[in-house]
Amino acid sequence: MTADTPTETVDAVVMGAGVAGLYQLHQLRKEGFKTRLLEAGEDVGGTWYWNRYPGARFDSEGHIYQLWDEELYKGWTWSERFPGQPEIERWLHYVTDKFELRKDIKFNARVTSAHYDEKRNRWTVKTSAGDVIDTQYFISCGGMLSAPITNQFVDQDKFKGQIVYTSLYPAEGVVVKGQRVGVIGVGATGIQVIQTIAPDCGHLTVFARTPQYTVKMKNPKWGPAEHKEYHDAYEKTKTTVPDTFSGFEYDWDPTKTWHNTTPEERQKIMEDCYEHGSLKMWLASFPEIFFEKEASDAVSQYVADRMRQRLNNNAHLIDAIVPTLDDYGFGTHRVPLENGYLEALQLPNVEVISVRKDRNPIKRFVEKGIELQDGRVVELDKIILATGFDAGSGALSRIDVRGRGGRSLAEEWSKDIRTTMGLGKHGYPNLLTTAVPLAPSAALCNMTTCLSQQTEWVTRALVDQRKDGKTIIEPSAEGEEKWVKHHDDTANATLVTKTDSWYMGSNVPGKPRRLLSYVGGVGTYRKKCEEEREAGYPSFVRA
Ligand code: NAP
Repeated sequence: MTADTPTETVDAVVMGAGVAGLYQLHQLRKEGFKTRLLEAGEDVGGTWYWNRYPGARFDSEGHIYQLWDEELYKGWTWSERFPGQPEIERWLHYVTDKFELRKDIKFNARVTSAHYDEKRNRWTVKTSAGDVIDTQYFISCGGMLSAPITNQFVDQDKFKGQIVYTSLYPAEGVVVKGQRVGVIGVGATGIQVIQTIAPDCGHLTVFARTPQYTVKMKNPKWGPAEHKEYHDAYEKTKTTVPDTFSGFEYDWDPTKTWHNTTPEERQKIMEDCYEHGSLKMWLASFPEIFFEKEASDAVSQYVADRMRQRLNNNAHLIDAIVPTLDDYGFGTHRVPLENGYLEALQLPNVEVISVRKDRNPIKRFVEKGIELQDGRVVELDKIILATGFDAGSGALSRIDVRGRGGRSLAEEWSKDIRTTMGLGKHGYPNLLTTAVPLAPSAALCNMTTCLSQQTEWVTRALVDQRKDGKTIIEPSAEGEEKWVKHHDDTANATLVTKTDSWYMGSNVPGKPRRLLSYVGGVGTYRKKCEEEREAGYPSFVRA
């Protein structure tokens, strides 16, 4: 027995037991494929297993963050409109049990390498637990935001207190009562942490770099009446959601775009969307906010005004927290919902420090806390890092993935991030992917909508392979080139590509700049994937 002797032989390995991986396993098993799911964590949940930080919750409404199985859907009730992490984790356990998935999942098994052998047309997938799995297909369901950025601060190890990453938050929690706590990061994660822990901390220091436009969440409790209403609407919701721009329930009204409305109508639409208390302000107000400066400026001003009012004209906080038109436009960066964040920042035990390059950036960590550029040392007991992820490509490029001729995916993506519809990559036969760049699931989507669609496409592709007597499916060089060009043309028409954020990979030093998400629309993407299949996979070579 050598280090390469297989411990198991299967038709398909699925990596990751989050929403995508669980659903993928369920489908493949139903179709009779012998499938092994490998998961690094101790249990299922993916994003919702790792991100146990205080205040973690959906920005998608619970009734659309769903898998479209009627019995599954109607057998579960959410307790509020935007449920929190513990309830979401329970839901994923419910899904796992309902589909009886556990027996085919190996936990505590982080995939460390996946090598394709051209002669045998098989992948060998190895894990941290010593598994060596021989498989025909390797399917990545590793998540778009699962590779945290770590150890980025100078002298981070010198700090004598406790450092906690939100993305690896201890299940037993972290005591903040009576403690001097620092939070670095005011993205969607940092905002949820700050608004949740601020009242409990002895003292909280918020280190805020780029300001964020935020929209106030409305999160009513749900009871039997709401459950009945959304259960009864199952068929309608199931057919509406996959066809919208972003996989949510709401969409732009084509008769009420920026161009064909009066100033009074526009004002009313902005108010209605904002008061909806959801991402509707971003994803269903005016399509022009993604393309045209006039509309982008107007909506940005509206949201900034709403934020300023709640900050009670506190000039220091406004400077640190509220973006200006010179920074970037509303929605060209992921919009976080908040629920008491702006009020938390005004509590007497909270200090906000702007650590922008032109204010007072973080210089390094020291034994007692954090030293700023101006020499001030902020003394802390605990530092919570909500500093983001190597998004889209990170999950796979942190693994040693080798395709034809030993080519390395990490190396290729370190130069140029390319895929074919986010479903595969030229040079990597029988590697099928979800939540990787150049598909909506990489960033801009209600995740269950996009992950269901991609995993269903993968399942059908494997069934087609079997039906057609084929054993290899690989994106062609020409097919990939065509998709990358279409993606870039679509992306470059928008203002999103002008803003620095994780959407563009600009939060990771050296990461090639390209919009991670396909922004042609979730419904459009789905149609393109269907057309690809119906036309016999012209962007792929099959043998
Ligand atoms: P993020 O949006 O990338 O935010 C990271 C934050 O850390 C930013 O404020 C960033 O500042 C700051 N930061 C990074 N390095 C820093 C440094 N050296 N010094 C000071 N500040 C630094 O990450 P995230 O908040 O984890 O959110 C990522 C995505 O996860 C979200 O956009 C969203 O899609 C998803 N998410 C969803 C939910 C939900 O659905 N409810 C909740 C949380 C997260 P800069 O902006 O200046 O780089």
